Amino acid sequence: MLVAVPKEILPGENRVALIPASISALTQAGFEVLVESGAGAGAFIADQAYQDAGAGIAGGAEELYQAADIVFKVRPPEPGEVDRMKEGITLVCLMDAFFRMDLMQQLASKQISGFGLEFVPRITRAQSMDVLSSMAAIGGYRAVIEAAGLLPKYFPMLMTSAGTITPAKVFVIGAGVAGLMAIATAKRLGAVVEAYDTRPAVREQVESVGARFVEFELETADAEDQGGYAKAQSDDFYKKQQEQMKAKVATVDVVVTTAAIPGKKAPVLITDEMLQAMRPGSVIIDLAAERGGNTEGAVAGEVVDRHGVKIVGYTDYPSRSSVHASQLFSKNICTFLLNMVKEGRFEIDLGDEIVTGSLLVHGGQVVHEMIKPLLGQEGA
Ligand code: NAD
Repeated sequence: MLVAVPKEILPGENRVALIPASISALTQAGFEVLVESGAGAGAFIADQAYQDAGAGIAGGAEELYQAADIVFKVRPPEPGEVDRMKEGITLVCLMDAFFRMDLMQQLASKQISGFGLEFVPRITRAQSMDVLSSMAAIGGYRAVIEAAGLLPKYFPMLMTSAGTITPAKVFVIGAGVAGLMAIATAKRLGAVVEAYDTRPAVREQVESVGARFVEFELETADAEDQGGYAKAQSDDFYKKQQEQMKAKVATVDVVVTTAAIPGKKAPVLITDEMLQAMRPGSVIIDLAAERGGNTEGAVAGEVVDRHGVKIVGYTDYPSRSSVHASQLFSKNICTFLLNMVKEGRFEIDLGDEIVTGSLLVHGGQVVHEMIKPLLGQEGA
């Protein structure tokens, strides 16, 4: 079977789904590998490096898709890319499925088996396939690097002959993978770090990476679903959270927001009124900007200045770290595929929870329990 890796076509996407170092694991398992010429350019990988590792090079997307039995991609394919795929192939990528019913239906109409890597269950056996964690960690790291670059202050405490510089104060909202990495990075840069999450279970993790866990008077007993993800809360809850956080954000230099609810718009946690209470020159890195943002006024992909506070809405942090992002993605996606090789044969085993957890479209139908109910809904 042939695994094909196209060049990502989304403008600004520098990652590639497979790097040369992963190829031998695939060829040893019996796969052939074909890479579109230039696919690795954004991650500084030349065609020759793929060839040296045992892959073939396709001159263009047409040739690549003609040969593909399995397609590895980073981003969900555009309709024109799916048009080029053969019927009945397997596609593995980040699918953005909650928001791409059109794509789900197009894949179904071509009998394509579509796996969404963001749906791989967060179980121990699947840890090395966890693309979400790999990419979120990069987001958390780069969030703080970005903030340090924009803040008109030092991060660390410094004692100089001209006086003592007090350390920057960083507040991280949402302590999932990205938030914990943001805490650890800010701590390494010397900031004083505090964090908050609606899931009380994360307090210990927050403390273990060096931040103080901030308590608010909020009812959080029902904050977590069975998968460990945050549940959406009521408008009243978010209002109370905003009221209590207002005083906190007014005392810090940097806020990193990462609060996400799977499949839903991000909750607004920092209102315009709270922005007005913040110190001019402060920086907010809104990692939820792509899903509407945790900050009022955040714009995906842009830096906005409101009341003297910079709100950074970049959505492409993993792509900005394309070398390591591609390395981790490649390892994750290969482990995911190799999990489906049984006795030397590739097989979609519907008895495996990793397979059923991430299989979105199969046999001409949308099969995923979380996606099926959205079929036909407006805007879905
Ligand atoms: P995420 O990106 O879905 O959300 C980010 C964080 O924001 C979460 O911690 C969430 O609780 C928090 N949040 C949501 N609403 C909030 C609000 N109003 N105020 C403050 N915080 C809010 O999270 P993630 O990084 O994908 O992690 C989700 C879950 O998966 C966690 O339980 C995590 O521990 C778990 N996980 C497990 C594994 C594994 O076992 N292999 C790997 C990674 C993550």
